[in-house]
Amino acid sequence: MIKAKKSLGQNFLIDKNILEKITSITDIENKTILEIGPGTGNLTSHILKKKPKKMIVIEKDNELAANLENKFKNQVTIINNDVLKVDETKLFKDKVIVFGNLPYNVSTEILSKWIINLKEHFWFECLILMFQKEVADRIIAEFNTSNYGRLSIICNWKLNIKKIIDIKPSAFFPKPKIDSSLLIFYPKKKFVKIKDPYNLEKITRIFFNQRRKMLKKPFNQLFNGDQRVLDKLKIDLTLRPQNINLDTYYKLAFEYENLNS
Ligand code: SAM
Repeated sequence: MIKAKKSLGQNFLIDKNILEKITSITDIENKTILEIGPGTGNLTSHILKKKPKKMIVIEKDNELAANLENKFKNQVTIINNDVLKVDETKLFKDKVIVFGNLPYNVSTEILSKWIINLKEHFWFECLILMFQKEVADRIIAEFNTSNYGRLSIICNWKLNIKKIIDIKPSAFFPKPKIDSSLLIFYPKKKFVKIKDPYNLEKITRIFFNQRRKMLKKPFNQLFNGDQRVLDKLKIDLTLRPQNINLDTYYKLAFEYENLNS
């Protein structure tokens, strides 16, 4: 009997309807699949029923990884490692579909790693990922709302994101204390070219450092009060960071790179 480890965010999905729903979002047959944190393999089994061409899973827990080896033998390649230490781009020749009921304690770290490291060529077709609802709401938040912030801006830079469903704690064992949400991420065809994604990271950090204060101070800190940038991007410095839309943040990062190159 496997005992769930809280430290690894182990809440296993047991609701068959939800498992079916997750694996029906996109066509899996003959596709290459990567699953993050397969746990006891409930989602893995459902994915395999849809006949993927190849399936790789990354599981950090040694005991669970050994259990998965027994359960799936030759059907699945198991990487017993921390996903934060794996370079997924080196695992496949094809574009992959990524599934993950992510461990909540590292979910944003995993997603940020993928987004920051994304090159011109996307290594995935789409990401189908579960987050705690509160995090998912921040990822998809629109500007002018209280959930809007760094996570929304960074995640939406190169990806289109849609919520599929909210999921109640009763769908898991052990039951988490919070609701979850399933999101799907697709690569964007067009996005503002920022050479170094850490510049977007830096700009959003400085702007949202004091989210209730006017934009004047962080703007002056980053751009030395450059009026040309203000005119070009039509920014009103009396607004707050949450009042600036996504596109303006990407353009700010672009301008920041131009000024500092
Ligand atoms: N996918 C399974 C399911 O839906 O039943 C389990 C999901 S559970 C929320 C998260 C899984 O991720 C656990 O199996 C846990 O051991 C694994 N995990 C936690 N941290 C990880 C990491 N850094 N790298 C890879 N796997 C991790």
